Amino acid sequence: AAVIVAIDGPSGTGKSSTSKAVATQLGLRYLDTGAQYRAITWWMVNNGIDMDDPSAIAAVAGKPEIVSGTDPSAPSITVDGTDVAGPIRTQEVTSKVSAVSAVPEVRTRITGLQRSIAAGAENGIVVEGRDIGTTVLPDADLKIFLTASPEARAARRNGELKGADVNATREALLKRDAADSSRKTSPLAKADDAVEVDTSDLTLQQVIECVVTLVEE
Ligand code: C5P
Repeated sequence: AAVIVAIDGPSGTGKSSTSKAVATQLGLRYLDTGAQYRAITWWMVNNGIDMDDPSAIAAVAGKPEIVSGTDPSAPSITVDGTDVAGPIRTQEVTSKVSAVSAVPEVRTRITGLQRSIAAGAENGIVVEGRDIGTTVLPDADLKIFLTASPEARAARRNGELKGADVNATREALLKRDAADSSRKTSPLAKADDAVEVDTSDLTLQQVIECVVTLVEE
């Protein structure tokens, strides 16, 4: 039977690296749900949608066609056929994604995509996000909730962002967490039956091994 693994947690906890490696090792597909929210946000920015107006966002939530490639060794994301893997990582998109993903119409749309991708994964899939274990795939075979100290998370994120100020990175991360955790529709949260793993003092390899072991149990 297909194996469904949900990996949730805030950014900078090693979610993406862990999820990709676990999927590769176990021969599963991989879905980065944050990339989908970033992609719809990129489209909203590009089309001049007023980000301070949730009803304007809701009105066009169904418009962009978002396609995720789920090969863990070469994940991809397109919007209306355009490769947006690079542009969805800009500061501008990162600073606006929480507002867009708080809109219920956006979540309904993206959650539907996620469920159909998971249902179509023959051997199974590792799905990473914020609400996968609680809302998107509540029947997942294994749920992991990754955490780490704000310092560890900011340091990791800074390693990816070459030359950024670590204090500014930490403040931006905490601001995004607060927004993601306080929204009314499926906030960032640990499912009751999720296994919590604090990655602050673990290497990536240790986290991967820990999750692979839990899947195989
Ligand atoms: O994981 P990443 O940092 O790329 O996610 C970007 C943003 O997408 C999050 O800050 C959050 O606002 C949103 N998101 C979400 N639900 C998910 C995954 C991401 O709301 N399952």
